[in-house]
Amino acid sequence: MKVDIAVYPGSFDPLTVGHDDILRRGLRLVDHLIVAVAETATQSKSGLFTIEERVSLIEEVYADEPGVTVMSFSGLLVDFMRAHGARLMIRGLRAVSDFEYEFQMALMNRSLSPEVEVLFMAPDSRHTFLSSSLVRQVGRLGGDVTKFVSPIVKASMEARFSRDAAAKGASD
Ligand code: ADP
Repeated sequence: MKVDIAVYPGSFDPLTVGHDDILRRGLRLVDHLIVAVAETATQSKSGLFTIEERVSLIEEVYADEPGVTVMSFSGLLVDFMRAHGARLMIRGLRAVSDFEYEFQMALMNRSLSPEVEVLFMAPDSRHTFLSSSLVRQVGRLGGDVTKFVSPIVKASMEARFSRDAAAKGASD
């Protein structure tokens, strides 16, 4: 299968250096990557950024990368892929613990849309422990997230936490 366009879906709340690692590996293989920010299964209480904020943050991070487009989607990912002419989906695999869910999703997506293929990529071993939810927790507790996210994301996280702290202070 010759690939010119692929989709990298996820929650990206927030985008981490682990996501960036997978994205850049993907860009070596395909001409164009659509980062697809999922509108479903997100916005839980522990969420950090809105969908719109995530999209614009990721756009800012890849502003100089012509091969990257960022979009949000709701509904079935395979429908989104079909609408954008993408047959390849890229997913990152950090550990065996990711495997079961990812494998199940891949087979479900194939059953919904047989033309879709999933490419699993392993990040650099330095990023295998990293997840958005851990980064959110560390950030909320005042930990330094410099090593885990880009400077743009870090600045937005700090702005969000200080806004939340100010709002909390005002309501106390
Ligand atoms: P989802 O809610 O779909 O898992 P995430 O934003 O958490 O969304 O992750 C999107 C994709 O990036 C998934 O394939 C996930 O396995 C992968 N990913 C997340 N963090 C890392 C990491 N540190 N290294 C490699 N892949 C990662």
